[in-house]
Amino acid sequence: MQTPDYQRLDRAHHLHPFTDFKALGEEGSRIIERGEGVYIIDSEGNRILDGMAGLWCVNLGYGREELVEAAAAQMRQLPYYNNFFKTTHPPAVKLAETLCRLAPGHLNRVFFTGSGSEANDTVLRMVRRYWALKGQPEKQWVIGRENAYHGSTVAGLSLGGMAPMHAQGGPLVPKIAHVRQPWWFGEGRSEGQDPEAFGRDCAAALEAKILELGEENVAAFIAEPVQGAGGAIIPPASYWPAVKAVLAKYDILLVADEVICGFGRLGEWFGSVHYGLEPDLMPIAKGLSSGYLPIGGVLVGDRVADTLIEEGGEFFHGFTYSGHPTCAAVALKNLELMEAEGVVERVRDDLGPYLAQRWQALGAHPLVGEARSLGLIGALELIDPATGERFDESLAVGNLCRDLCFASGLVMRSVGDTMIISPPLVITHAEIDELVDKARAALDATLARLA
Ligand code: PLP
Repeated sequence: MQTPDYQRLDRAHHLHPFTDFKALGEEGSRIIERGEGVYIIDSEGNRILDGMAGLWCVNLGYGREELVEAAAAQMRQLPYYNNFFKTTHPPAVKLAETLCRLAPGHLNRVFFTGSGSEANDTVLRMVRRYWALKGQPEKQWVIGRENAYHGSTVAGLSLGGMAPMHAQGGPLVPKIAHVRQPWWFGEGRSEGQDPEAFGRDCAAALEAKILELGEENVAAFIAEPVQGAGGAIIPPASYWPAVKAVLAKYDILLVADEVICGFGRLGEWFGSVHYGLEPDLMPIAKGLSSGYLPIGGVLVGDRVADTLIEEGGEFFHGFTYSGHPTCAAVALKNLELMEAEGVVERVRDDLGPYLAQRWQALGAHPLVGEARSLGLIGALELIDPATGERFDESLAVGNLCRDLCFASGLVMRSVGDTMIISPPLVITHAEIDELVDKARAALDATLARLA
């Protein structure tokens, strides 16, 4: 089959996630056929540097035979069995042990799921159940953040704060509130306010929301260490210490959504380690298997786990694919390779600083109001060089830049007028140079189109 054949069948039968179905029908999909290292190759033979590691997940890059072999071997041995009703299998046990060894010391249990969304559904049920078992069943409110993404199941989208998602599909899960995000460049800072004062203000907004809802009614706060899909929002240094203090003051659980930040993205095994957080629960997915097979989970801290175990009886919750043996075997091999190759340390000590230095230079481009990065996540804030302000939304400049990027052989994603990258963690210096050069070329081309 050739590209037009795929496009015709795709148009006729395939409803894509997060896609305007009608517009896609008119434009036709790009068909990705292969992957090698940090590159994807489309059905026209174009070799494209995948600056997003798929959807922030292909941490070890494409084409790792060891992961293929791990899947094949496990499928021959036991392709599927479940973990329900007091049964398990070696891959799930070994993966649970490895995850708890890699996670901060107080996280000693894991509940497996098939995805990050299911992990956040599990979180919601666990935190409410925890407080019920503690004799405080009124503690049900969970506070998330505006513009946060925690998944597409009903619980995931309710915990998330994406207004366009909330506007579709009817009532959300009750007793979930949202507070402002620590996006200094983007919104909410007062005139002349520096990032640190702004970070403290965001934490104060959380405290105000807790008091509004009544501290006795608030179960948990959920947030990513660095907000990914919202626009690679790296909080000011003041933010997390102030949030931690607020949560401790009112005895509220912290859920650190590590679906993107986990497994080396910020140069530590978990983003929580980078920021010195001690989360009670950590949803994980994506980089856990480098995206080779779908698997997620929730790492559970002793405080919650002990209560669920000692006082909870049976937890009526689970997925057919919780701890799926083939997915678990691939995840285990993925973690083994990451450890053996020192991937996380390399992001922290070498690749992250190198990207930061190259990426910062893009801040001098006339279209860029801010260039920021941490580990291997980065963002560019686009501005109108004539005014120094944001472009009118209707111009969709971010999407224009994204399309020009793709045409020049780089996947860079746009969230409004914020351009974001999250490349595979095995990227080399030369590939970082290529990524930055292509991003600059796309900025130049965008500027030329706007002239
Ligand atoms: N949480 C975060 C922070 C995410 O970025 C995502 C997906 O992008 C999810 C949860 C949902 O994960 P999944 O798509 O595996 O359901």
